[in-house]
Amino acid sequence: MDRQPSSAARPILTAEVLSIGSELTTGETADTNAGELARSLTDSGVRVARLSVLPDRRADVEGAFRAGLERSDLIVSTGGLGPTPDDLTRESIAAVCAETPSVDPELERWLRGLWERRGMPFAEINLKQAWLIPSARALPNPNGTAPGWWVDRPDGRVVVLLPGPPREMRPMWRDEALPPLRDRGLGSEQAVRTLRLAGIGESAVAERLGEAILRATNPVVATYARAEAVDVRLSAVGRPAQNGVPASSADELLDEVEPVVLGAVGAYVWARGATTWAEAVGAALDARGWSLATSETATGGSLVSLFGARDWLVRSETVRATPRPGGPADLARTAARIRTETGAEVGLAVAVGQRGADSAVSLAVATPDRVARRRSMAFLGGDQGRLRSALMAAAFLVEVLRAEP
Ligand code: AMP
Ligand code: MG
Repeated sequence: MDRQPSSAARPILTAEVLSIGSELTTGETADTNAGELARSLTDSGVRVARLSVLPDRRADVEGAFRAGLERSDLIVSTGGLGPTPDDLTRESIAAVCAETPSVDPELERWLRGLWERRGMPFAEINLKQAWLIPSARALPNPNGTAPGWWVDRPDGRVVVLLPGPPREMRPMWRDEALPPLRDRGLGSEQAVRTLRLAGIGESAVAERLGEAILRATNPVVATYARAEAVDVRLSAVGRPAQNGVPASSADELLDEVEPVVLGAVGAYVWARGATTWAEAVGAALDARGWSLATSETATGGSLVSLFGARDWLVRSETVRATPRPGGPADLARTAARIRTETGAEVGLAVAVGQRGADSAVSLAVATPDRVARRRSMAFLGGDQGRLRSALMAAAFLVEVLRAEP
C-alpha cells in the first residue's frame, strides 16, 4: 500500500459526501458519518456543497459519483465496501473511471492473513475487499476487513471511499485520508468567530443584523438558536487580490464585519466561542475570587444541573413549589440568607411559577453590598420553562457580577 503524492495541482476547495447503504434510506440506521465528515471538511476550510444518502443501487451510486465529479473537487463516500453483493461502491467508481477491478496480491495476502490469524477458513467472497483499480490505492483499515480507496482522477479531482461502520470510518479518515489531502492543499485559509447572545430571540437578532449582512457570502454571518444561547457565527475565507482590490486574510475580513455585528447586537453578547454558562459564571466569580450559593424553587433542579459540580459553588438548595409562593422580597431575603449561612460572597435565588402556557421567573442576586432583583417571563411552561428560567438566572448573575464595581 504505497503512498504516492499526487502530482495534480488542483486545490481541494469544494467537497461532497455520499452516504451509501439501504439501511440508511430505509431509516434503519441513522447517517452519522456525513455530519462528521462535513464538520471535519468545514473545519479544514473546504466548502461542503452537498450531503447525499443513497440506497445500495448501482445506478444511483454511479450517478451520484458522476454528478459529484462534475461539481466538486473531492467526493468522500462511506459504506458499501463490504464483501457481499449488495456492497457496490467499488464497482460503481470503477465504472465511472471506466476501469476493471482486479485482486491486488498484497491486499489479498493481508486479507487471508486476517483469517489465518484466527484459524478460520477464508471465504472466497471476501476477495472483493482486496480489489483495486489502476487509479486507486488502498487506505489501510486496522479496524476491519475492508480497506478504503483513494482514487485520483485525471483532472486532479479526488474520490475517497471509506467503510460504513463509524469506528472504522473515523480513524481511516483521520489517519489515512486527511493527511495526504492536507499535503495536496486542502481548503482555503479561513477564520471563525462565534458570539453567544442571551436575552434576545433569533428573529430579533436577524432583524437587527439586517438582510445585507445575513445574505453576504464572505464573510458569512449566520444565526443559530441553541438551547443555551443564540449564537452568531462569523466566518470568512481569505480573499485573493482581484480587479485592483488588494487581498484580505480571513481574519481581516472578520475584523471588518465584527464591529458592525457588535454595533447591532453587542449588548446581548455574554460570551465567545463555545463557552458554557458554567464557564461564564465561573470566570465572572473567579475575577473577584468569589464563590456562590444558590437556592432554586420549583425549577426541578435545572440551575444545579446547568452548573454541575463546581469549586466555586458552595451550596445549591432545591426547594419544591410552595402552595403560597412568597413575593420578590422573600426571594431577596433568601439570596441574602444563603450568602451569610454559607460564607459565599454571592447568593443567587430563583423561583418559577406557571402563568398560563408560560413561566413567571423571579430572580435575586445578593453580593457583599447589594441585592439585585428581576422578574420576567420565560417562553413555555414545564421542563422547557424550568430550563429557560435557569438560563435566565445564569444570565442575570453574569450581568450583575460584571456590573460590580
Ligand atoms: P457497509 O460498509 O455499507 O457494509 O456498512 C456497515 C455498517 O456500517 C452498516 O450496517 C451501519 O451499521 C454502519 N453504517 C454505514 N453507513 C453509515 C453511516 N452513514 N452512518 C452511520 N453508520 C453507518
Ligand atoms: Mg452496506
